[in-house]
Amino acid sequence: MTSRPDVLIVGAGPTGLTAAAELARRDVAVRIVDRSPQPSTETKALGVQARTLELLDRLGIADQAIARGLPVRRFNIFSERHRIATFDLSTLPTRYPYILMLPQYQTEALLTERLADLGTTVERGVELTDFEQRPDAVGAVLRGPGDKTERVEAGYLVGCDGPSSTVRERLGARFEGTALEERFAVADLHVDWDLPYDELFAFLHTGDFITLFPMRDRLHRVAIAYTKRETPTGEVTLDEVQHALDKCGPGAARITEIQASGRFRINQRAVDRERVGRVLLAGDAAHVNSVVGAQGMNIGIQDAVNLGWKLALTCTGRATPALLDSYPAERRQAARRTVRGTGFFTRLTLLHHPALTLARRRLLPLALARPKVRTRIEWALSELDISYTAHARTGSPDGTAPAPAAGDRAPDATLYDTANRPTRLLEALRDDQYSLILAGTAQPDADQRLARIERVLASYADIHGYRVTPGPDRFAHTPAPITALIDRDGRFHHQYRIEQPTLLLLRPDGYLAARVDKWDAQQLEAYLRRGLIAHATRRTRTTRE
Ligand SMILES: Cc1cc2nc3c(=O)[nH]c(=O)nc-3n(C[C@H](O)[C@H](O)[C@H](O)COP(=O)(O)OP(=O)(O)OC[C@H]3O[C@@H](n4cnc5c(N)ncnc54)[C@H](O)[C@@H]3O)c2cc1C
Repeated sequence: MTSRPDVLIVGAGPTGLTAAAELARRDVAVRIVDRSPQPSTETKALGVQARTLELLDRLGIADQAIARGLPVRRFNIFSERHRIATFDLSTLPTRYPYILMLPQYQTEALLTERLADLGTTVERGVELTDFEQRPDAVGAVLRGPGDKTERVEAGYLVGCDGPSSTVRERLGARFEGTALEERFAVADLHVDWDLPYDELFAFLHTGDFITLFPMRDRLHRVAIAYTKRETPTGEVTLDEVQHALDKCGPGAARITEIQASGRFRINQRAVDRERVGRVLLAGDAAHVNSVVGAQGMNIGIQDAVNLGWKLALTCTGRATPALLDSYPAERRQAARRTVRGTGFFTRLTLLHHPALTLARRRLLPLALARPKVRTRIEWALSELDISYTAHARTGSPDGTAPAPAAGDRAPDATLYDTANRPTRLLEALRDDQYSLILAGTAQPDADQRLARIERVLASYADIHGYRVTPGPDRFAHTPAPITALIDRDGRFHHQYRIEQPTLLLLRPDGYLAARVDKWDAQQLEAYLRRGLIAHATRRTRTTRE
């Protein structure tokens, strides 16, 4: 175990494990500690959203997650026993058009296994008790088994230590927001009813609320909301769940067995700063929100992906530390969107005034009859709308994706290599560096434009070039080291709405950094100069050597 890692991660929940894996696979020396001696066995987050699966795919574990989980495509909402909405996620433009039901301890187990494959083990029973920042490092104090104290000098410290974060507290960052009055009970159990097993159901009833999430092995996770006055205490019982289901549910449903249960309150909070010098906060340490909408763990994993490649480029001296400033800017926007969205839906589900519940029952179906509103909610649920532009992006009313612009997620597509083997775009691109894609049919002066682009590529070590040729079986002349790929059915060009020669610059996390018309090398250079990629010929190490 090095006592001088590039990055020390505190907390081995889903956020810390993802951050550690993103760094380890980019050859950054990382240590990850967790004060809990054992991995958690709690179900907690059950819904893994489409965008998170796309990112776990880049980490190489999406297929295993799907094999262990249950994909759920339909989400039904009832109000006072009337069905008021059904969302069908199966038409979403992603490889994963569903919510994957997978208990959080299994997601954590998969991440831990991937991390071990990358040569990094979680140090358990090790607690961060204090730290101090210096210009060139962070000095951290760890307390291990038998109260043994260790001092660690790390290039960066990342606090992924959950809602009661020690790192956040020592940093003096404020955690602004409120706690909702309502209390929640959750239980994993068997339910016998006539409704489809593999769909999600929410039953709202004048201020009462019960949701049933299907899990593998014909289990359901049930969540019940209570007002402050009527909250039961102690163990969640069969009678309690049966009563809530009889009151709000479809009738003739029987609960047979409770396997696990708990009670909790909801906080809606976000930190006032995610980065102070060499210390960064991610996941629940930086923001917590209502479990309605199943977003908390997902947002944490996405924080870790956003931060991972930026820290990796910074620690290896391939980008200036200024790159890290884009982390709070981008992720605060995503976290605030989630806190706002889940807060709105939580208030909507907990309405109890008769006039308001009547309005919900009458007006919500009218609003949801508008395809635009539906698409917007489906994109928000699956987190495909998270964009690092100024506004969240939604699909068009028919559910198709808009033309991806700078800041948007880069959609995947099937392409063919020079040996005519199929490959996926996001698999073909190297994700330890930026990718520049030359797309579209070449214009008459293509050779000169290509030569200028080659010169740009030659001066940036961290950009690899790809030429994606439209058309059946034809490869345009592609100079080495640019990698040639073919878009046989034109799907890639359609998805990216490419109608003229276009340059697409993709970030290592699969978001579009820039989109430049006409293979214009000058515009590309202007972006790169403004951007944060260090010039290859002026490499400097920015962390301690
Ligand atoms: C009942 C319930 C249902 C939920 N359902 C969903 C859902 O369906 N979908 C969803 O996306 N989210 C859901 N969530 C939210 C989700 O569980 C959290 O958002 C998620 O756990 C956050 O992950 P994290 O890694 O940021 O923090 P945590 O999971 O809290 O991990 C923090 C880790 O840090 C460790 N730690 C703390 N302090 C220290 C220290 N000083 N030193 C060393 N280690 C330390 C802890 O031991 C812990 O392992 C649910 C939560 C609950 C309670």
